[in-house]
Amino acid sequence: MYEINRNYLKLQGSYLFSNIAKKVAAYKEANPDQEVISLGIGDVTQPLCPAVIEALHKAVDEMAVAETFHGYAPDLGYEFLRSAIREHDYKERGVDIALDEIFISDGAKCDSGNIGEIFSENNRIAVCDPVYPVYVDTNVMAGRTGEYIKASESWSNVIYMPCTKENNFAPELPKETPDIIYLCFPNNPTGSTITKDELQKWVDYANQAGAVIIYDAAYEAYISEDNVPHTIYECDGAKTCAIELRSFSKNAGFTGTRLGFTVVPKELESDGVKLNALWARRHGTKFNGAPYIIQRAGEAVYTNEGQKQTKEQVAYYMNNAKIIIDGLKQAGYTVSGGVNAPYVWLETPQGMSSWDFFDHLLEGASIVGTPGSGFGPSGEGYFRLTAFGSYENTLKAIDRIKNL
Ligand code: PLP
Repeated sequence: MYEINRNYLKLQGSYLFSNIAKKVAAYKEANPDQEVISLGIGDVTQPLCPAVIEALHKAVDEMAVAETFHGYAPDLGYEFLRSAIREHDYKERGVDIALDEIFISDGAKCDSGNIGEIFSENNRIAVCDPVYPVYVDTNVMAGRTGEYIKASESWSNVIYMPCTKENNFAPELPKETPDIIYLCFPNNPTGSTITKDELQKWVDYANQAGAVIIYDAAYEAYISEDNVPHTIYECDGAKTCAIELRSFSKNAGFTGTRLGFTVVPKELESDGVKLNALWARRHGTKFNGAPYIIQRAGEAVYTNEGQKQTKEQVAYYMNNAKIIIDGLKQAGYTVSGGVNAPYVWLETPQGMSSWDFFDHLLEGASIVGTPGSGFGPSGEGYFRLTAFGSYENTLKAIDRIKNL
């Protein structure tokens, strides 16, 4: 009799978003005349920019002609895209990444889960708390965690690194030594960042502890402050301890188009085995490559026009973030994030849980946001608002909150 992977049974249902959907549906039914505005949108809303659309059309036309048709993509991705990444994301920042250290993929969500395949089940993971839930969930699936503890809404055998007001929402080095450390900066959901000096401490720690850092830089394009690193490889020694995940989703609107990449340096090794070779093997065996058309679209992001147009989109969202931060501060709330990330992290007023505040906003102002407790135990008492809505709705929503 075959057996299933029973680790999947340990996963909790997607309580956060299903509960939000249920509450919003009930509210709409009871209040059909109210216009509900979402400040909880996690997806981008601006369309793909003209430079990308033009590249897509051109690539589609190429696929119609035998001489320019493209079938299977090369294992690591097309060189034209890896060269553009190498040049713009790394060389221009003084970082030397080789072409065969860049692996084109269908996005950071898949990579953040799949990368676990090259690590043993026995590794102990450490995660920021709160954080993007995919890191923990994929490790649950892989059997790297213990059991879910309902009372604390956390997993045994996972090292949680609280990110709280006291540490400016950037974790401290853990007391217990992990094997795999997930860092995500700028962070979802807190919108917090880490300075280059702070990140250097993590790199030094990982090198000394023999741990690997999986650094999720999906929101790199939102960084506006000079002392915030755009890539972990700006830190000395990062190539011997860090893998970096990147995405075209939030900088260029590829959430539905799908494109990302992972950097696995050749210096990174465990027991004399190079992680780059393992990931290359995995990529070649189990991944058919992002489509040619999409990789050409990704290349267009790095052209002058593409850079100008995608930066305008990021600026549009960040203007929304500023409206949210300024408005909430005027209304007397304590907020953070929103300067280097499209996420604003609000401290719920005294005595209100994250879910109490959700109800308060929905019932009092017809606004939907995301309870912080859904991102980890330390998110209790916080609330995430996102800048991905329209300018008009963001203004309207903040006005309503001010009048609550
Ligand atoms: N990493 C973080 C921190 C995210 O918040 C998200 C999406 O919200 C992703 C990765 C997903 O990226 P992609 O669309 O490239 O899969």
